[in-house]
Amino acid sequence: RGNAPTIYQLENLTMRNTPSLENYWMPFTANRQFKAVPRLLASAEGMYYTDVDGNKILDGTSGLWCVNAGHGRKRIADAVARQLTTMDYAPSFQMGHPIAFDFAEKLGERAPGGPDAKLDRIFFTGSGSESVDTALKIAIAYQRAIGQGTRTRVIGRERGYHGVGFGGISVGGLVNNRRVFPMLPGTDHLRHTHNPERNSFVKGLPAHGAELADDLERLVALHGAETIAAVIVEPVAGSTGVLLPPQGYLERLRAIADRHGILLIFDEVITGFGRLGAPFAVDYFGVVPDLVTTAKGLTNGAIPMGAVFSSRHIHDALMHGPENQIELFHGYTYSGHPAACAAGLATLEIYEEEGLLSRGAELAPYWQDAIHSLNGLPNIIDIRTIGLVAGIELSSRKDAPGARAYEIFTDCFKKGLLIRVTGDIIALSPPLIVERGEIDTIVSVLGESIRRIS
Ligand code: PMP
Repeated sequence: RGNAPTIYQLENLTMRNTPSLENYWMPFTANRQFKAVPRLLASAEGMYYTDVDGNKILDGTSGLWCVNAGHGRKRIADAVARQLTTMDYAPSFQMGHPIAFDFAEKLGERAPGGPDAKLDRIFFTGSGSESVDTALKIAIAYQRAIGQGTRTRVIGRERGYHGVGFGGISVGGLVNNRRVFPMLPGTDHLRHTHNPERNSFVKGLPAHGAELADDLERLVALHGAETIAAVIVEPVAGSTGVLLPPQGYLERLRAIADRHGILLIFDEVITGFGRLGAPFAVDYFGVVPDLVTTAKGLTNGAIPMGAVFSSRHIHDALMHGPENQIELFHGYTYSGHPAACAAGLATLEIYEEEGLLSRGAELAPYWQDAIHSLNGLPNIIDIRTIGLVAGIELSSRKDAPGARAYEIFTDCFKKGLLIRVTGDIIALSPPLIVERGEIDTIVSVLGESIRRIS
């Protein structure tokens, strides 16, 4: 197999010169299927990847919903390089470095929640999964701190995705992520909000289903409010196929949570940083939770990092007790990693200078019309769009659920378009720098595949 280059420069990396595929145990991948016909990306710039054979591939998914400012941003690379050569790593326990405080301050200024209820107390993590587990632990610790120590139960939602920690899979609602593993005790779930009989081919929020939020009342009646610490939802469920909250649903959930002393957590790992055309889903919907989890777009995907945005109220309640005692027994070796903070600061600057956090709002009408123009193609049973996101649901083949969408995925890849599929749902979420012409390309390449693959 020759010597694999240590720096994977496109010109010396071809399929004949790649490393062995055997050792890397790939995440969320059918390893054997993939390794039989691998798809290997080698470089990225702007809206495009280039694979190891030199083919250009239009990125219809911002990597995994994370490269919101587009690929290969030199400003981020330079900031990371500068930071790594200045100080590569420093501990964050009982020790600090200015860049983490600086990044938290800048994030705090832009935090969701409006002037009176800013969620500007920020806990750094290494990923979305860590952000979720952190938020759940903060919620439980907060309840205990205010004398509500019986509130240890956390509520999620069917078809929710909150990463892969034990907390995240327990509040998550995906059977494949849950069935093999033991769950946190005491979790429960709201029903999901997807109702194709009443809402289909909708642009923006579906009209029907706000009353599904009342499931929280039912769980209060079942378990007792005094056992429930928090409820966590994705404002827009992304990974499980772009499921949108019905009009009024999130407001209703907020009101019920308030009524019963239950904290509301929005998982904004996908919706944060401009995906809906506003900085956060909190801003888009005008509903303010108590905690917001983020990752992905926080550093434009360039360095792994997550952050939990907390209300001052929660933060301050935990700052009790003797001053020389640790307030929250939680944290990661890489919390506030200097290189990640450098990437995050540079990312924020790009978002602001280029107006990317609101660009989705300008482009949404064009994007949504373009995506909905696929309506009528074979096997499409629903199209859902919001901001710069789309979910296109296909009917499943009788004996092979997911096979049709997977075939479309591989076909699009061959034709130079990266889409994402989950089951028989196609999810699209291009970088926020996308131009109208590229939207047209996404729609025409995808449309051609959908027409061809029956
Ligand atoms: N929450 C949500 C809403 C997500 O979409 C994801 C990732 N797709 C996660 C949590 C987990 O993030 P990570 O993969 O960075 O752990």
